[in-house]
Amino acid sequence: CGIVGYVGSRPALSIVLDGLRRLEYRGYDSAGVAVVDNDTVLTEKKAGKLANLEKSLADRTGDGIATGSTAIGHTRWATHGGPTDRNAHPHLSADGRVAVIHNGIIENFARLRRELEATGVEFASDTDTECAAHLLAAEVRALRESGALSGPQLLAEAMRRTVRRLEGAFTLLAVDVEVPDAVVAARRNSPLVVGRGQGENFLASDVSAFIEHTRDAIELGQDQVVLITPAGIEITGFDGTPAEGHEFHIDWDASA
Ligand code: GLU
Repeated sequence: CGIVGYVGSRPALSIVLDGLRRLEYRGYDSAGVAVVDNDTVLTEKKAGKLANLEKSLADRTGDGIATGSTAIGHTRWATHGGPTDRNAHPHLSADGRVAVIHNGIIENFARLRRELEATGVEFASDTDTECAAHLLAAEVRALRESGALSGPQLLAEAMRRTVRRLEGAFTLLAVDVEVPDAVVAARRNSPLVVGRGQGENFLASDVSAFIEHTRDAIELGQDQVVLITPAGIEITGFDGTPAEGHEFHIDWDASA
């Protein structure tokens, strides 16, 4: 299973797919991507190999999925819900404006799902992950209504509020249509590294996903949230305290 994210000015889809291909050796049963383009989050997800996903992507022309410059990509090793198209990631909020991908297990998902269903949320999958998409969307909405924050900072705060409610192991990445030039991510008991580029930044579960683009990396610490935009990388704890990851230079040959 693997996770990749990109923000910059290049078409993000092919960068993310290349990254996923480099993580393929880890094994997976499904794959999916979300691309932010203008006023939509465009997604494609498929059970089976990456080649399967690429086949369905090849049929899509003209809707911006191949040209948008913000994207997240996922390969899944199913733990909750069978390896089907509908259980593949990304998972979307009910309004389709927030997309989430996840490696790991959200241990308290059943309780969260019951709580969300009680407020009228309808689930579209059997995964533990989907509750994070609905929780994040609810936090985004609440923050937007309060007017206290906006843009990437709002998205980062919504992620922090979401992950404070989650138990278990997770590398989570999310995009929000209202914040087209940002990817937010969080980690607990599961790996996440940032790749620092020039006018572009990367996220991945393993540096091999972005090694051909940059060798300047930051390994996130336990219980940290990172916000990447084309120009910046901001790390905090789950409580919002500014934090620093572990910066390192990849000087070994990871391209083999
Ligand atoms: N628990 C999640 C699922 O079953 C994520 C699995 C993974 O790590 O790929 O969908």
